[in-house]
Amino acid sequence: MSVSPQLETVRHIAREVAGPASYAVDKDGRFPREVIAALKAEGLLSAFVPQTLGGHGTGVAELGLMCEALGQRCASAAMVFAMHQVQVACLVRHGHTPFFQDYLTQLVREQRLIASVTSEAGVGGSVRTSICPIEHDGDIRKVRKEGTVVSYGEDADDLLMTVRRTSDSAASDQALVLVNKSQCDMEIVSTWDAMGMRGTCSPGYVINAQFADDQIVPDPFADINAHTMVPWAHILWSSAWLGIATDAVARARAFVRETAKKMGGGTPPTVARLSEVSTQLQLMRVHVRERAQHYDQLIRSADGGAETLSSLAFAVQLNHLKLSASQQVADICTQALRITGTTGYRNDSPYSVTRHLRDAHSAALMIGNERIHAANGVLHLIYKDEAL
Ligand SMILES: Cc1cc2nc3c(=O)[nH]c(=O)nc-3n(C[C@H](O)[C@H](O)[C@H](O)COP(=O)(O)OP(=O)(O)OC[C@H]3O[C@@H](n4cnc5c(N)ncnc54)[C@H](O)[C@@H]3O)c2cc1C
Repeated sequence: MSVSPQLETVRHIAREVAGPASYAVDKDGRFPREVIAALKAEGLLSAFVPQTLGGHGTGVAELGLMCEALGQRCASAAMVFAMHQVQVACLVRHGHTPFFQDYLTQLVREQRLIASVTSEAGVGGSVRTSICPIEHDGDIRKVRKEGTVVSYGEDADDLLMTVRRTSDSAASDQALVLVNKSQCDMEIVSTWDAMGMRGTCSPGYVINAQFADDQIVPDPFADINAHTMVPWAHILWSSAWLGIATDAVARARAFVRETAKKMGGGTPPTVARLSEVSTQLQLMRVHVRERAQHYDQLIRSADGGAETLSSLAFAVQLNHLKLSASQQVADICTQALRITGTTGYRNDSPYSVTRHLRDAHSAALMIGNERIHAANGVLHLIYKDEAL
């Protein structure tokens, strides 16, 4: 497969910038600022923006490979990049108004970083529920939202927030609003001294924002969510997790080879487990990349894949991707730990997989798997698979 110059650049940034920064990012729980700065310098925060607006027009499959590459060196940086690209995708695919077209050219020029505020106190992890309504004050629109987990809120330039359309609307009648941080008063209400993904810097905030009507993304949030936010999130998050798993297996493999060398060319007892974990990794890789390519082809097709994107099968299969990739990354890292033993258990060994394991356990929580299984299980009552 030919590698685009942009992907080659991201791989270089992963090796030369993200890798060296990863220890401090994790230890200090700080934003991977040098990685995001390097990506900005290459215009990669606007990678998905169409070339007509000055972006690279990079597809989701390639963005997935970029998340994989970053995830092999610094999972927090990979996740920040992935989350930002999900926000960009929502604006590119659903912001068909002059305001958003102007915003996208500004994004290309200024490489603005967009954070996501879908979580809200009182709704748990239900993205399709909002409590906070848009309030009217003459021409000004206002919202007060208690976001429970907001990654890189400090370092972002803009926020993309889910809100309730009006105070009379149902909790599921939502809109997506893009606000510049200069339009917001943000009070930090919790900390992010977390087990893993420490560099995502994800505390809770109470956000008071003022904005104009044209900052509301025109399409209904139900469509934005089903056709773009969920597919992009599940594909790019899974790609970042695939990066973590890939590096954990690479470390296990290097450890087994080192053991073989120390044995004078003998066969270490762990080779069978290395084979087993490599098999799991290949399964994960094939699944993640296949779904990314499938979605890429759909949205590039003549009708934009409208019918498929709204289908039950598409939703179920995307849920399967998120559920399996988030489980596999933790399983693969655990297997890598069993292979590397106490050497992998040490934080300061070249074969250490401790950060991988800690980061991997965030995967099942980013939109809780229990929640997804519960909703997906209901879909299975009517889902027809390929069984004869
Ligand atoms: C690293 C990281 C970064 C994040 N970044 C952001 C961000 O930038 N912006 C943002 O808005 N959010 C972000 N989130 C939040 C995230 O995506 C979820 O919204 C949030 O993690 C859900 O919080 P919760 O687990 O406390 O709540 P819940 O989903 O309510 O889960 C609480 C518990 O209840 C269980 N549970 C909940 N519902 C059900 C159900 N229906 N059936 C069975 N069990 C159920 C869950 O398994 C879990 O044990 C991030 C999360 C992580 C881990």
